[in-house]
Amino acid sequence: MAKRDYYEILGIPKNASEQDIKKAYRTMAKKYHPDMNKDNKEAEAKFKEVQEANEVLSDPQKRAAYDQYGHAAFEQGGGFGQGGFGGFEGFGGFGGFEDIDLGDILGGMFGGGRSRANRGPRVKEGADLRYNLTLTLEEVAFGTEKEIKYKRKGKCKTCHGSGAEPGHSMKTCDKCHGSGQIRTQQRSIFGIQTVVHECDKCHGTGKVPEKECHTCHGSGVEKETVTKKIRIQSGLETGDRVRVTDGGDAGENDGVYGDLYIFITVKEHEIFKRNGYDIYCEVPIGMTTAILGGEAEIPTLDGKMKIKIPEGTQNGKIFRLKEKGITYRDRRGSEIIEIKIETPANLTEKQKKILKEFDESLGKKNYKESHSFIDKMKKFFKGEE
Ligand SMILES: [Zn+2]
Ligand SMILES: [Zn+2]
Repeated sequence: MAKRDYYEILGIPKNASEQDIKKAYRTMAKKYHPDMNKDNKEAEAKFKEVQEANEVLSDPQKRAAYDQYGHAAFEQGGGFGQGGFGGFEGFGGFGGFEDIDLGDILGGMFGGGRSRANRGPRVKEGADLRYNLTLTLEEVAFGTEKEIKYKRKGKCKTCHGSGAEPGHSMKTCDKCHGSGQIRTQQRSIFGIQTVVHECDKCHGTGKVPEKECHTCHGSGVEKETVTKKIRIQSGLETGDRVRVTDGGDAGENDGVYGDLYIFITVKEHEIFKRNGYDIYCEVPIGMTTAILGGEAEIPTLDGKMKIKIPEGTQNGKIFRLKEKGITYRDRRGSEIIEIKIETPANLTEKQKKILKEFDESLGKKNYKESHSFIDKMKKFFKGEE
């Protein structure tokens, strides 16, 4: 099958900016991520495609090669061989995609820099951040909105992120002449090699302020406390992550924001146990109700409710209440009720006497299960007498 165009895969135009590519990649990778698409082969294939497209388009050199030669640029033995393009990052093909997990999407998650020395002047990306959020079963059952407050690096209020003192502009870095890179030549057994480093004066951006901002000393960022309203969709489980685009740290030198990842924990409930989108509850009822039939009051996520207990209900009887579980998309799971018959304890002599008289009146048709069990036992042990 012919390979699809990388721009088409990410749904962006050919002249998309680095930031557009990053955004498109994150959106698509999230959409097709295996964690979000369990056992979905189509999503898995799409996810690989997206990874591959990003691998190329996010790298200015690979992107330039792709723009010029198309997919042929990366084919084995193609006109774009290893080492033929300066630098030593290598174009070793796209091996290793089998191992992709969320860690790849999160990239340098919590660590900050995704710096690779070989990219030319570029936009700095802030670190992704983690926030742990505990929710109740009721909150995830119906979805909710939560307000969270946390600290991060924000854009400097004085210079609005540029790093330049107000009234002063940015100028081309004189150390790297705006390329963001410093090239040095090294002699080795392979001959003379050019090694590319990020420029330490402009941190790879190619620009420096005429005068550094007095608040952030040129970094363009400062600590801030942010409050965000987060929409919690129904159906979330412990271990789920909610991504807040641009909720992370601001990138230095007028860079872009990283994302915030909210790690969800759902608290154990006192009454309900959860099983996917179903909830389960054990309800004790008295022996007499089980024998004679009646009603039992049960808890649901929507409030208290009464269910009918039929005459002769046995221990362990299951009732399934449809549409009383956890909501997800436009559906709702069930509530499973398991009846536990409680045997009365601490009886008086009088009560015991009444029960004994009652018991003597019972026969085979009252205790069908017990009697058929006794018959089976008899058969089984016949040879041993
Ligand atoms: Zn520089
Ligand atoms: Zn500043």
